[in-house]
Amino acid sequence: MFKINENFLELQDSYLFSTIAKKVAEFQKNNPDKKIIKLGIGDVTRPIAPAVVQAMSKAVMEMGKPETFRGYGPEQGYDFLRNKIAEFDYKNRGINIEPDEIFVSDGAKCDCGNIGDILGNDNIVAITDPVYPVYLDTNVMAGRSGKYNSEKNIYENIIYIPATADNNFVPELPKKVPDMIYLCFPNNPTGTTLTKPELKKWVDYAKENKSLILFDSAYEAFISDEDVPHSIYEIDGAKDVAIEFRSFSKTAGFTGVRCAYAVVPKNLKGYTKDGKEVYLHGLWNRRHGTKFNGVSYPVQRAAEAVYSKEGQKQIKENIKYYMNNAKIIKEGLEKAGFTVYGGTNAPYIWLKVPEGLTSWEFFDKLLNEANVVGTPGVGFGPSGEGYFRLTAFGTKENTEEAIERIKNIV
Ligand code: PLP
Repeated sequence: MFKINENFLELQDSYLFSTIAKKVAEFQKNNPDKKIIKLGIGDVTRPIAPAVVQAMSKAVMEMGKPETFRGYGPEQGYDFLRNKIAEFDYKNRGINIEPDEIFVSDGAKCDCGNIGDILGNDNIVAITDPVYPVYLDTNVMAGRSGKYNSEKNIYENIIYIPATADNNFVPELPKKVPDMIYLCFPNNPTGTTLTKPELKKWVDYAKENKSLILFDSAYEAFISDEDVPHSIYEIDGAKDVAIEFRSFSKTAGFTGVRCAYAVVPKNLKGYTKDGKEVYLHGLWNRRHGTKFNGVSYPVQRAAEAVYSKEGQKQIKENIKYYMNNAKIIKEGLEKAGFTVYGGTNAPYIWLKVPEGLTSWEFFDKLLNEANVVGTPGVGFGPSGEGYFRLTAFGTKENTEEAIERIKNIV
């Protein structure tokens, strides 16, 4: 008799977005004439930049000719892309990350989950709350979460670090020391960020306690304020305690193309049970080479073109477009009397739901009365209750119309 991985049975039934999809489908079935505007799921809508499409097409043509055909590539990514990442995303910001510390992959989601392969299953995990659900669910699958407590909507072994309006969305250092700490800034879902001194506290804490920080900066390209760090490696000492995850998904519209990367510094060490130090770089290299075949050549050429002069100009125009939507949402909702957070350094707007409503009740109200879809805050963790997420990834026209409709129902 074979056994299943019973950790999967601890996962909570319906993943947030499938519940939303079901509710929306039912509403549409009952109201076929209503035009629903979706500002819920964080998928992009702008097409890929022309310079990027051109580079990808050229690479596809190369694959069709015997002189330029390529088979398996290096699992860690082609040098042409790793060099560009090291130069543009790090060296140009005064950070020394070597190209061979960069592991190109097919997604930050996959990396955030897969990294657990090289980490002990008895590690204590901390997540900020609310946050991108992948950190939690992948640790439930790995058996690090313990049992689910349905009354409190928490797992017994996970340390939840609240980030709410009460602490200005700056999570406090936990008293019980975690081994693995997931930080996501700019944050999904709150759209809030940390300053360098705030982030430094986490780096110092991790150093002092021999914890590992898993830093997700999938939204760094949306930062506009000068004092907000784009990378955790802007903080002294972070290379000793942190792995960073980045993605081309939101930066360059690659959600359907798939390219991302993880940075594992060569001097970053973990520990065996008896306290022996082991370099994580070697472990991740081995894991990546064994379980991953590399990102396809045309896609890596496309990602390379993101760093070209034209590519940079074009992706920045798209980011500007989305951030203008964020402004429309933020200012529109504020005028309508809502308390609103985020939306200046991230494409997410986090609003306080009206008194007396839960975040799912507000979801239903918005869907039924304004035909607008957002995401209930509680879906991102218990501290998300009472909040609601709207994304700036729609079209400008839909965003404007959605805000007008919301204004009319309050
Ligand atoms: N990290 C965060 C915080 C996200 O919000 C998302 C996508 O929504 C991802 C990672 C996923 O990135 P990718 O498309 O590269 O898997």
